[in-house]
Amino acid sequence: MHTTPIDITGEIQIRRHDAESVTAWMADGTCRHHPTDVFFPSDGAGVERARAICARCPIAERCLDYALENRIEHGVWGGASERARRRMLRDRNGRTVPLAS
Ligand code: SF4
Repeated sequence: MHTTPIDITGEIQIRRHDAESVTAWMADGTCRHHPTDVFFPSDGAGVERARAICARCPIAERCLDYALENRIEHGVWGGASERARRRMLRDRNGRTVPLAS
């Protein structure tokens, strides 16, 4: 009986490509010109600073969708703070939804 070897390396490469294509849009974000910690503020002034940067971002809508779909808890994404995203999810679903499990 002849058996075909399983191409484990090929499978891994395909999975890596899929993961990269899911987040490839992030390379176009305005935040690439700023330190990462700007988008993980510790106070309201920091949130406003990050939101001002997001307001000039060409992919803000996609960024926000990604954060909502993946229930990302921390940071400012798509111009929305954690609190704002939690409110959006609540409004969308008619109930409170935890951002992270
Ligand atoms: S919306 Fe804000 S956090 Fe998202 S990619 Fe643009 S600048 Fe970065």
